[in-house]
Amino acid sequence: MDVIERLQTHHVKPSVQRIAIMGYLMEHRTHPTVDEIYVALSPSIPTLSKTTVYNTLKLLSEHGAIQTLTIDGRNTCYDAVTTPHAHFLCKCCGRIYDLAPTPSDSHPGEMEREGHQIQEIHHYYKGICKQCIEEKRLNRINSLTN
Ligand SMILES: [Zn+2]
Ligand SMILES: [Zn+2]
Repeated sequence: MDVIERLQTHHVKPSVQRIAIMGYLMEHRTHPTVDEIYVALSPSIPTLSKTTVYNTLKLLSEHGAIQTLTIDGRNTCYDAVTTPHAHFLCKCCGRIYDLAPTPSDSHPGEMEREGHQIQEIHHYYKGICKQCIEEKRLNRINSLTN
């Protein structure tokens, strides 16, 4: 699906800025923050403001075109993947990874639990990512050989 189609599917009127922001999220599966998106796009769209980025992300999220993540409580991150999947936050480098869905990530849909209607399910895992583990391992080897 291309960017414009994706916006139209979610009843968002395509504008230059909306297309750029949605496109950025679809291309970068790194769960960027408002700041990261702003810094990446502002050179090519000089009229872009941080407020516009924030408001656009909010609109896209309200229309279900993207999902909002608040894993670490400080930063809000945005994800173009709206199908259920778990996230892994590395406490070392702060990167957020997608994890393959497990049966417990199933779509909330009309799910009900103890009389409550579930609309969102978030699975967050925290730890040290494989890249950081590898870096630590290499550092240890380097310090041994020096
Ligand atoms: Zn890491
Ligand atoms: Zn994700």
